[in-house]
Amino acid sequence: MSQQSTGVSQQYIAGEWTDGDGSETFESINPATGESLGEFRQGTEEDIDRALSAADDAFEEWRALSYIDRAEYLWDIYHELKDRHEELGRVITEECGKEISEGKADVAEAWHMVEWAAGNARHPHGDVVPSEIPAKDAYMRRKPRGVVGCITPWNFPVAIPFWHMAVTLVEGNTVVWKPAEQTPRCGQIIAEMFEEAGLPEGVFNMVQGFGDAGNAIVEDERVSAVLFTGSAEVGHKIAGKVGAEPGKLAACEMGGKNGIIITEQADMDTAVHSAIMSSFKTTGQRCVSSERLIVHTDLYDEFKERYVSLAESVKIGDPMDEETFMGPVVDESQVEKFQKYNELAEKEGGEVLVDRAEPEEGELPAEFDGGHWVGPFVYEIEYDPELRCLQEEVFGPHVALVEYDGDIKEAIEIHNNTPYGLAGAIISEDYRQINAFRDYGEVGLGYANLPCIGAEVHLPFGGVKKSGNGYPSAREVIEAVTERTAFTLNNSREIEMAQGLSADITTSDD
Ligand code: ADP
Repeated sequence: MSQQSTGVSQQYIAGEWTDGDGSETFESINPATGESLGEFRQGTEEDIDRALSAADDAFEEWRALSYIDRAEYLWDIYHELKDRHEELGRVITEECGKEISEGKADVAEAWHMVEWAAGNARHPHGDVVPSEIPAKDAYMRRKPRGVVGCITPWNFPVAIPFWHMAVTLVEGNTVVWKPAEQTPRCGQIIAEMFEEAGLPEGVFNMVQGFGDAGNAIVEDERVSAVLFTGSAEVGHKIAGKVGAEPGKLAACEMGGKNGIIITEQADMDTAVHSAIMSSFKTTGQRCVSSERLIVHTDLYDEFKERYVSLAESVKIGDPMDEETFMGPVVDESQVEKFQKYNELAEKEGGEVLVDRAEPEEGELPAEFDGGHWVGPFVYEIEYDPELRCLQEEVFGPHVALVEYDGDIKEAIEIHNNTPYGLAGAIISEDYRQINAFRDYGEVGLGYANLPCIGAEVHLPFGGVKKSGNGYPSAREVIEAVTERTAFTLNNSREIEMAQGLSADITTSDD
């Protein structure tokens, strides 16, 4: 039971639903309509404190189970996610606004991650390592770190929590999770799944709330690792705080100012298709969405004409409708940020090519009057490495066309000239150009002849430079939430050392 009698959803701490310490509540808002989807208790530092104590207390018992026994709990969740695919896809779309195929893909991504984590319980967890000394057996073994704090964003409200928590739990850690404040209903449903799966009390805890609750996780000494996905601004603060604590680790995945290079060797259909998907899927609110299109002068005019014509006509509308390409943005602050950067681009010399930033009168049905709606904003701008509009992430359908002349090196230089390094794509029929981008593009995720979006859970995910330290995906999360032990066993009664080091003990009598 996750609601008190007043209908306000509660926190899940130490195996129980509770009002928690605070009296404040907050609402989940449907971004398409502005309607309330429910009221939620707002977690406090005291709630986080209780959740961390519960997780700390549960750790010894949880870590003592085998990997396979821990994974058993997650198989139940795997089946539930699959069985509720349609329903949860709609819940996601309703709460965060992305169109329905994206809502459903979010659920599929979640069960893929649970499948990976639970399946991996039966795979080797460490290495047998050769020793110079024949009588020695050497191993690398892994141990759970302890209490792991998971702080997640709204744009993949079911998938990302499982990216963080599935591997973390199977590896023997306990969890305190703070879902994004924009998507608490998804958080509630996930917590109910963990409750139904019957995890021992305190192994999984969820506290709904805002940044102050997240910060209370980050600053607590009982937390041994923090997994964070969200903005660079918050992520760097977290990495700084956690990095200053000996023995603690922060794995952060943040945004990008992602670019697509379209060379003179590009196939035009692939270029236009990939660019439109990269710019406008999820209404530009993926951390891998592309806000820079770097196009060779030889095909610039043709690309511009075809791209602009599609950007003028992509369908904005009801995210529940399978024909819709773009739904709303998540909230009003996102609308304001988008508008601010559109103005900045014009101020910095951008020539506007498509301005659907504010949907026209009658473009959307009246039921969406209270929602947070924007459309494509596309401009061309002469390249200048100092331009803020080419450097700073907007997280919306705000796209710059940049024309370049010269060879692939020029294009890669423009591409790399941002503080970020999450994702990037190249469109070219020339494998040498593709391989140059593969080798010199400063990205954690590279794509060739594809949109600059899309992730499968068994591939690494994460960025370089300001975009993060590349941890949050299946295999890499193991690195973040476990400690390695190099363990060496001597099978002989003699002690013999590597590197020719003497094992003789000499005394003054010798
Ligand atoms: P976004 O722009 O995607 O909303 P944020 O970085 O603001 O990204 O939020 C991502 C997650 O981080 C959310 O769960 C949010 O509540 C949490 N958060 C925000 N500020 C802090 C903070 N100072 N410390 C820890 N977590 C925070």
